Amino acid sequence: MDGPSGSGKSSTSRGVARKFGFDYLDTGAMYRAMAWAVLEAGLLDAGPEAITDAVREARLVIERDPDHPRVLINDHDVTEAIRDPRVSQSVSVVATVPAVREILIARQQAEIADCAGGIVVEGRDITTVVAPDADVRVLLVADPEARVARRQAELSGVDRAAVTDQVLRRDRDDATVAEFETAADGVTVVDSTFLDLPQVIDLVSDLVTAARDRKA
Ligand code: C5P
Repeated sequence: MDGPSGSGKSSTSRGVARKFGFDYLDTGAMYRAMAWAVLEAGLLDAGPEAITDAVREARLVIERDPDHPRVLINDHDVTEAIRDPRVSQSVSVVATVPAVREILIARQQAEIADCAGGIVVEGRDITTVVAPDADVRVLLVADPEARVARRQAELSGVDRAAVTDQVLRRDRDDATVAEFETAADGVTVVDSTFLDLPQVIDLVSDLVTAARDRKA
C-alpha cells in the first residue's frame, strides 16, 4: 500500500494485517529510523556520501508485529523517537539519496522474502518498486485538507503551519523520488477523504479476499 502522508496508510495497513493475521512492515519507519541515526551523528548536512555511510553502518531492527511494530537502531529502541517532528522534517533529505533507497529497498525485499505468511507493506514505492508483483496493490489517497487535519489531530500542540509543512512539503520532496500521486497499472485507488477507518479497512480487506479467491 502506497500513499501520501496523512492518507491513513498506517492505521489501514495495521488493521488489515491484524484482520488476516499477516505481518506488517512500515517502510516509512525504516527511512525515519535512518534519519534519526543521521541526525544523532550530526550528518544531516554532510552530503549524500556521508549520509549513505551512516545508513550503511546503522544496525536496523524492524519488528513486523502489527500490534507492536518496534524499531531499533544499534540496539536503541527508537519507536517513539522517530515520530518526533525533528525526524519528520529531516526524513526526506535522507530518503531522497538514491544510494540510501537502494540499501533500504533491498532490506525491505529481504523482510518480505523472510515472511512465511502474508504481509502488508506500506510506503511510497511499494506498489511500483519494492513489490510490483504483490497480490494486492493499493494507492490510498485523501484530499490535502483532510490529510493535514488528520495529522494535526495526531500531533496535538503543533501549529497548523508546521503540520502543513510536514505534510505537503514532505509530499513534494518525496514525490521527486517515488511516484505515489498517480496509480500505476493494476494498482487500485482507494480514496479515504470521506470514509472512516473501519470503512477503509473493509474496502482493502475485500480486495485481499478477492485476490485469495482468485488464487484458490
Ligand atoms: O510514511 P511516513 O510518513 O512515516 O514516511 C516517512 C518518510 O519516509 C517519507 O516522508 C519519505 O521521505 C520516506 N519514505 C520513502 N519511501 C517509502 C516510505 C517512506 O521515501 N517507501
